[in-house]
Amino acid sequence: MKMELTKEQLNWQTDFREFVDDVVTPYSEKNDREERLDPELIERLKEKGYLGSMLPQEYGGMGLDWVTIGILNEEIGRGCSSLRSLLTVHGMVALALLRWGSDEQRSQWLPKMAAGEMIGAFALTEPGVGSDAKNVQSVAVASDHSYVLNGHKKWITMGQIADIYLVFAQCEGKPTAFLVERNTPGFTTTPITGMLGARASMLAELHLADCVIPQENLVGSVGTGLSHVALHCLDYGRYTVACGCVGLGQACLEQSVHYSRKRRQFGKALRENQLIQKMITEMTVNVKAARLLCYHSGYLKDVMDPDSIMETWTAKYFASKMVNQVASDAVQIHGANGCSRDYPVERYLRDARINEIIEGTSQMHEMLIALHTIRNI
Ligand SMILES: Cc1cc2nc3c(=O)[nH]c(=O)nc-3n(C[C@H](O)[C@H](O)[C@H](O)COP(=O)(O)OP(=O)(O)OC[C@H]3O[C@@H](n4cnc5c(N)ncnc54)[C@H](O)[C@@H]3O)c2cc1C
Repeated sequence: MKMELTKEQLNWQTDFREFVDDVVTPYSEKNDREERLDPELIERLKEKGYLGSMLPQEYGGMGLDWVTIGILNEEIGRGCSSLRSLLTVHGMVALALLRWGSDEQRSQWLPKMAAGEMIGAFALTEPGVGSDAKNVQSVAVASDHSYVLNGHKKWITMGQIADIYLVFAQCEGKPTAFLVERNTPGFTTTPITGMLGARASMLAELHLADCVIPQENLVGSVGTGLSHVALHCLDYGRYTVACGCVGLGQACLEQSVHYSRKRRQFGKALRENQLIQKMITEMTVNVKAARLLCYHSGYLKDVMDPDSIMETWTAKYFASKMVNQVASDAVQIHGANGCSRDYPVERYLRDARINEIIEGTSQMHEMLIALHTIRNI
């Protein structure tokens, strides 16, 4: 078995790297400090077409294969975790519409989403309901060619700036997905600030008070919100988070190597110390292992192998745990400097922490992976 990127994938990787080094990384500290993505950076992302990276060309998307989508998220994750979050949640909504939307929904929304004229946000979690998503308390009631939605969503990435929200609510007692436009009367958002990491993800609480949306905004059918729509979105979400963790781990490694070359203690560079080399070794090996899991998951998606779902759980579980250890070692290598805002590893450690919570916590993955393994052996 030989696993290598194609010439085309390598060319994309070079493009993505240049974009991240030249455009994204210079903004990342400012984004974190100001707790928002700089609008100019979002413009540059749109210009590159990356908001359509997950969509086919017929809708104005880039038509990338899954491995290349993974490389894009890896590279963006190397530069700014919050910008990678934008790609994740926007793509989750776009792919939900591509897979489960009606022809009208696809033609109405996807070209605008691919161009970045419309930003999507994924709204499942509520103040009282996180991992136990089947139990969402928001409610949708059918009435006169429309649905009336009431509920409260929390921790919604890009909730402050999105134009359309994929909202999950109980309809006839079953979890169901709906599209809600920002300008719907009765729909309001409250920014959430002061998060530990991914601080520029512009999180918000959403309040839905008698929001009347057209019947056509039902996505899929009543009762398929979690079993079909969210399942599909979350697979993309987990894949892009896993790839983002690889990029973040790579950034930790690169900063640590640079620092340990310059910093001298006991008359020699830190990197000459074997205990520092051990940390560099573990970082290198673990980042590589996570990258291979991600590429393999992307490859299985490209060949439409159903095992790709399990492989994505595995990649997300491993990569999110991996990046926490790698970021912690990066801070350790930087000593006190690593605890200050003068060096990016402090932000990397905070950003890393989020990844074991979003798109299914590590504990949820432990249950999913164990159940799947037990059933199949
Ligand atoms: C930065 C950030 C961005 C987010 N963006 C979005 C978004 O865009 N859209 C959205 O809908 N949500 C979003 N979320 C919410 C996220 O999806 C939830 O935080 C996540 O699903 C976990 O839910 P919870 O926080 O309510 O934790 P809980 O479900 O309350 O769990 C708390 C702890 O208990 C553990 N636990 C729960 N049940 C069990 C069990 N049965 N067995 C063992 N352990 C268990 C969990 O693993 C966790 O460690 C975001 C969260 C963060 C931090």
